[in-house]
Amino acid sequence: MTVMKINVIGGGPAGLYFAILMKRQNPSREVVVVERDGPNDTFGWGIVFSDQTFSYLDECDQPSFERIIGACEIWDNVDVVHKGERVTIRGNRFSGIGRLKFLSILRDRCRELGVELRFHANVTDVESYRDCDLMVGADGANSAVRRAYQDFFRPSVDVRKNKFIWLGTNQLFHGLTLTFRENEAGRFIAHSYKFNQTTSAFIVECDEATWRSAGFDGKSEAETCEYLQRVFEADLGGHPLLTNNFVRWINFPLVRNQRWRHENVILLGDALHTAHFSIGSGTKLALEDSIALAKCFAEQSGVTAALQEFERARRPVVEALQDAAFSSLLMLENIAEDWRLEPLPFAYKMMTRSGRVTHEKLKKRDPEFAAAYEEWLQRQSKSGVKLPV
Ligand SMILES: Cc1cc2nc3c(=O)[nH]c(=O)nc-3n(C[C@H](O)[C@H](O)[C@H](O)COP(=O)(O)OP(=O)(O)OC[C@H]3O[C@@H](n4cnc5c(N)ncnc54)[C@H](O)[C@@H]3O)c2cc1C
Repeated sequence: MTVMKINVIGGGPAGLYFAILMKRQNPSREVVVVERDGPNDTFGWGIVFSDQTFSYLDECDQPSFERIIGACEIWDNVDVVHKGERVTIRGNRFSGIGRLKFLSILRDRCRELGVELRFHANVTDVESYRDCDLMVGADGANSAVRRAYQDFFRPSVDVRKNKFIWLGTNQLFHGLTLTFRENEAGRFIAHSYKFNQTTSAFIVECDEATWRSAGFDGKSEAETCEYLQRVFEADLGGHPLLTNNFVRWINFPLVRNQRWRHENVILLGDALHTAHFSIGSGTKLALEDSIALAKCFAEQSGVTAALQEFERARRPVVEALQDAAFSSLLMLENIAEDWRLEPLPFAYKMMTRSGRVTHEKLKKRDPEFAAAYEEWLQRQSKSGVKLPV
C-alpha cells in the first residue's frame, strides 16, 4: 500500500488542525507542516470563539480540546460603550484564548501524533513542495501558494478603507467590548476582550482621514500607543497599551477565490477567505475548513473527489459567513452615520449589525435588553421622533 504524503504550507490554526486530523485518521500518512516563523513568534494577542465552535473541536480531537478549554477565559456579555455610557448585553457565550497558547497546544498535539513540523522555513518556491499527494496552502491572507497558482484560483483581494492595529493591555475587559471614542482627529473604535488572567486584546480601528489627521503615518510604535492611550483613557484604567513584534497599521484584506482547488493543491483558512475580525470568526472558519476537508478525505476515495466535495459542501457556508462579516465591516466603516444615536439604540444596532442576531434571538439571550429597546422604540414613536433604520 502506498503511503499518502501531505505537505501543508503554513503552521497557523488551519494548517496545524488539518495536520492533526489527517494524522489521526490514518497514522501511516506522512504529514509535514512548513512554517515561516519560529515556534514562539506569532502576530496578535488573543482569539475569540463562540460556544458553537467548541462542540466541533470536542468531537474532532478531544485531547487538544481539553487543553484549549483549560486555557480559555469565558464570559457571556457583549458591552457597547458609546457617548461615555456602557450598555451590557448578556447571553452571548464566548471564550478567549491567547493566540500563542492556542498555537502551542496545536503544535504539541501535532508532535504527539507524529506530524513533522519545520520552522523557520519561508516557502518561496511553492512548486518544489508539489511533489506529494496533497499540498495545502494554509499560509494566511497573503498566501504564497495562492499567488503561485493565481491563474487557477482567480483570487480577489479587496483592501478595505479602515485602518486597524492589534494591541494588548493589562486592563481586563470582562466581555467582548466595543468602545467608541472621538477626539479632534476623528472617531476611533476599540474591540477588546481578555484572553488570559492578565491580558486583553485591544484592536483599534479608524478611517483613513482620522488616521492621517492623528498623524499616525509619522508616529513611532511608542508614540502610537501613547496617542491611543489618551483616546481611550477612560477605558484603560491607567494601564498602558502594549505592542508585540508585529505591530503595524493594516487595511483589512477581504480575500475570496473563484476556485478553491488546482490539481493536488487546496487552499484553507485565510488563504482561501477572510472574514472581518469584528465578528471574531477567522479562526473558527479556519478550523471548520480543516474539519470539513478532513471529513471529505474520510468519506471520499481519492484526492480529486475529496477536494471536489470539500468545495461543493463548504463554499455556501463560507460565503454566508463572509456576507455577515461584510455587513459588520460596512457598518463600522460608515460609523459616522450612526454616531448620533443614543447608547441604547446604538448598542442594539451594533448587536444586529451582521444580520445573524435577530430581535427574537436577543429576546432569548437578554430579555431585559430586548425589553428596554422595545420600550425605547415605543417612547420614540409616541413622541413622533423618526426612528433609526
Ligand atoms: C486584528 C485581527 C484580529 C483578529 N481577531 C480574531 C478573533 O478574535 N478571533 C478569530 O477567530 N480570528 C481573529 N482574527 C483572524 C485570525 O487571526 C485568522 O483568521 C486566523 O489566524 C486564520 O488562520 P490561518 O491558519 O488560515 O492563517 P494564519 O493564522 O495567518 O496562519 C498562516 C501561517 O502561515 C505562515 N506563512 C505565511 N506565509 C508563509 C510562507 N511563505 N512559508 C511558510 N509559512 C508561511 C504564517 O507565518 C502563519 O503562521 C483576527 C485577525 C486580525 C488581523
